[in-house]
Amino acid sequence: MLKVSDPQVFEAVENEEQRQQNGLEMIASENYVSEAVLEALGTVFTNKYSEGYPGKRYYGGQEFTDVVETLAIERAKKIFGAEHVNVQPHSGAPANMIAYSAVLQPGDKVLGMDLSHGGHLTHGHPVTLSAQIYDFVRYKTDKSGEIDYKQLEEMAKKEKPKMILAGFSAYTRQLDYKKFAEIAEKVGAITMIDIAHIAGLIAGKAIPNPVPYFDIVTTTTHKTLRGPRGGMVMCKNKYAKAIDKATFPGFQGGPHMNNVAAKAVAFGEALRPEFQDYAKQVIKNAKVLENELRESGFKLMFGGTDNHMVLVDVFDSKGVSGKEAEEALDKIGITINKNVIPDDPRSPMDPSGIRVGVAAVTTRGMKETEVKIIAEQIALILGDIRNKDNYTKAKKAISELCDRFPMPGIKETAMAK
Ligand SMILES: *Cc1c(COP(=O)(O)O)cnc(C)c1O
Repeated sequence: MLKVSDPQVFEAVENEEQRQQNGLEMIASENYVSEAVLEALGTVFTNKYSEGYPGKRYYGGQEFTDVVETLAIERAKKIFGAEHVNVQPHSGAPANMIAYSAVLQPGDKVLGMDLSHGGHLTHGHPVTLSAQIYDFVRYKTDKSGEIDYKQLEEMAKKEKPKMILAGFSAYTRQLDYKKFAEIAEKVGAITMIDIAHIAGLIAGKAIPNPVPYFDIVTTTTHKTLRGPRGGMVMCKNKYAKAIDKATFPGFQGGPHMNNVAAKAVAFGEALRPEFQDYAKQVIKNAKVLENELRESGFKLMFGGTDNHMVLVDVFDSKGVSGKEAEEALDKIGITINKNVIPDDPRSPMDPSGIRVGVAAVTTRGMKETEVKIIAEQIALILGDIRNKDNYTKAKKAISELCDRFPMPGIKETAMAK
């Protein structure tokens, strides 16, 4: 259909499919969804207005929106053991805004992780709206790469924040959830954690679940969790009303029901045993990447990884900037992103580091052997970024991997039919 009615968009879609199939996606926040998730996204639920919540909507005709939203909520509760779930946030950034506005007043203080130490823009970076509304103060990691919980406690006692915020997008170690909860209890702060990056690893039981320890948990659904682009807020029953009201009518209008349906499908997938195999393999693959890169002389930030990604100081290791590394690896078909390292002396546009994630290649079925091959190509290219022969060799090795491990969802999208 699309092919006939809009050949230009159709062609762009086809080209994007080819691009995704013919390269290795190693941006740590990306993944490939299943054909079933893609199919749910492209359904007539996109036509429907369903402001409100199941059983309590503002418009009629909600028999089936109620079915998919309830399925999504119940499945999420089962996966994470959450008391209350709101599946309507359009994405991760809105989910965080919703969580802040549900429990904070303008001017209230939030203690969150420093961006260059792995935190996220939406955790109070000065360029964001939330930083204009709330008063963010930041904690950092120490030399060992761990969060300094002593210092965190001292800061909490001194600053008396209304909220202590955990979570990250470039930090690679396991957080001590209990410590956060204990510190917050001592100063009477609300606890919030943003698990956008690691939700899939938690769902697959490959790393510990923070949901029992935190008052509010926000996430995206499209990173390691492998669902459609979207957000979600989980909380203790105590905050349920506030979160629901802050979502609608507080911050958003009508939910995107096609997305909610796709979230339900993805959560159904996350409840299957295969999903645990995937999550555990992600961790194994990341460990292989860490070890191989270290052996090739790269400096790993935070001392290594406990999750799906590594943060590498390529400038200190090989004299290559993050931007140069990103461009060089792009040429051989590996997509990664340049990234700041803690207290980076270089600029955010050309920082010292790169962030490399293995969730998407794991979804394609790659295991330790393949990750070794990938690490070898990264080392080959970044070890001598001006050597033309290396590019030819590495490109061939990556292209062979892409051919052997097709991406899911591409063969029979609604588009191609
Ligand atoms: C990706 C991410 C977000 C933002 O999600 P979007 O869907 O891009 O809005 C928020 N918090 C963390 C920790 C993230 O990693």
